[in-house]
Amino acid sequence: TPPAEKYEYQAEVSRLMDLIVNSLYSNKEVFLRELISNASDALDKLRYLSVTEPLLLKDAVDLNIRIQTDKDNGIITITDSGIGMTRQELVDCLGTIAQSGTAKFLKAVKESKDAGTDNNLIGQFGVGFYSAFLVSDKVVVSTKSPKSDKQYVWEGEANASSYTIREETDPESLIPRGTRLTLYLKRDDKGFAHPERIEKLVKNYSQFVSFPIYTWQEKGITKEVEVDEDPVEAKKDGQDENTEKKKKTKKVVERFWDWELTNETQPIWLRKPKEVTTEEYNDFYKKTFNEYSDPLASSHFTTEGEVEFRSVLYVPAVAPMGKDDIINSKTKNIRLYVKRVFISDDFDGELFPRYLSFVKGVVDSNDLPLNVSREILQESRIVRIMRKRLVRKAFDMILGISMSENRGDYETFWENFGKHLKLGCIEDRENHKRLAPLLRFFSSQSEDEMISVDEYVENMKPEQKDIYYIAADSVTSARNAPFLERLLEKDLEVLYLVDPIDEVAIQNLKSYKEKNFVDISKEDLDLGDKNEEKEKVVKEEFGQTCDWIKKRLGEKVASVQISNRLSSSPCVLVSGKFGWSANMERLMKAQTV
Ligand code: ADP
Ligand code: MG
Repeated sequence: TPPAEKYEYQAEVSRLMDLIVNSLYSNKEVFLRELISNASDALDKLRYLSVTEPLLLKDAVDLNIRIQTDKDNGIITITDSGIGMTRQELVDCLGTIAQSGTAKFLKAVKESKDAGTDNNLIGQFGVGFYSAFLVSDKVVVSTKSPKSDKQYVWEGEANASSYTIREETDPESLIPRGTRLTLYLKRDDKGFAHPERIEKLVKNYSQFVSFPIYTWQEKGITKEVEVDEDPVEAKKDGQDENTEKKKKTKKVVERFWDWELTNETQPIWLRKPKEVTTEEYNDFYKKTFNEYSDPLASSHFTTEGEVEFRSVLYVPAVAPMGKDDIINSKTKNIRLYVKRVFISDDFDGELFPRYLSFVKGVVDSNDLPLNVSREILQESRIVRIMRKRLVRKAFDMILGISMSENRGDYETFWENFGKHLKLGCIEDRENHKRLAPLLRFFSSQSEDEMISVDEYVENMKPEQKDIYYIAADSVTSARNAPFLERLLEKDLEVLYLVDPIDEVAIQNLKSYKEKNFVDISKEDLDLGDKNEEKEKVVKEEFGQTCDWIKKRLGEKVASVQISNRLSSSPCVLVSGKFGWSANMERLMKAQTV
């Protein structure tokens, strides 16, 4: 047999292992979640491929995960009948970091270090395969890919800079397909190899894995056996010792070991909404998306008719990690299933527009082909209909939060995802009617608490036709803008647009409930109080002054005009009707839009 070959880990891997061991030592049990999730991924991949290549399943059609424990020796084995790995894949997957989960983990650790917060939240991340070394001295991975006719064994030890790969030669260890992980537990962690402990952890961490997970458990069955009657008893009954012994039955418990199904495999979205508790929805969310806090809202629905699908959607309570303001459309937030087979979570706007990419959830369709490709997704009429329905449901869900008795919920939402909705105003004309009621702004009459446009409209004066706004870089500078004076004097409310994207969003909306949004800093602001007589007199009096100022300023201004919009300031710079507002100019200069 060929000897084992030695390989060095990529430098980042060693660093990652250190990090994992040092940041997760108090939360070691996550190793099981990680390894089961890898097994489940491997089964998903196989099931997906076998749709087009049924031969892959060959003589091992059962897709499941089996966990066996040897408590005396402190050994856990986790076996899956999934896609397995070729020799090259072993090197690529278990010797280098190219994987999403681990990359995310590293990023989070770095960010929390940069921010100077030593956070305990790291436990939430998918830290992946190397978490096995949290509890193990040695890890052995024996794996057989359907692409290869050989089975290979990867072997690594904690705190080592290298690992080995060899061919599996022990006939006892050969598996038809899949991966068997053997963990040789550290002395202090041998307790994990107790069957009850494993059962509890599986129930806790993996109840939503959609493949059956069996654990090796000791069981007992009660049997009735015939026994000879006790002679003493017989005597008491006054029987002669010599009479024939009476037969009696007795209950005994026979002990044996067997596989026991340990998780619930009915996907939550196939159950009746009435029968699922909020806690179950929240649990499913946290486990599926590796989140540590409950979502703000969820929605479980089935659509029928033209296109049939089931879905559970969520609005997260926290914004994704990362300080970048760029709204990312590729989030892996939506998991698409076709007839319960996981297809993909790699979407780029096919199911949700970019601005709703924060919505998480699962979608299971019976109408799409199992071997659906990216091109099919992009061109499918079915997908277009699905998208429309999903978007509507997402809006209902957000509207629900906005109507919640707990005002804080929507404030949280707005803080995290308000920017997304404003982007929606710019990118999705079709949904303006749904977006507008969800927007929130400060106003001249509500500088501490944001109001909705509906609240603004309710508060409008009977003769007021337009919705007034001013864009500025803060509430303070909005309040101090000279443009505001006349409106405040007339007790007209003005929305303060203080987020850079606000103005563009409002300009895209143009109007709400047939009332135009009007920028009070523009030149032709008409408050409906023109006094033509007075204007004529003033123009005559100050016309020459204006001409003189214009001459002095020359090209610096477009024109100098007499205005009726000020009450105490002598003059103000305004934007032309068709020009950019001062705020926009500032933005353009800063190139932030
Ligand atoms: P992630 O799961 O985020 O990709 P992991 O560190 O958990 O990162 O796993 C790294 C890679 O190793 C996986 O992407 C997969 O390709 C491979 N792998 C791990 N466990 C298994 C398994 N049981 N069967 C097949 N491949 C596996
Ligand atoms: Mg993983």
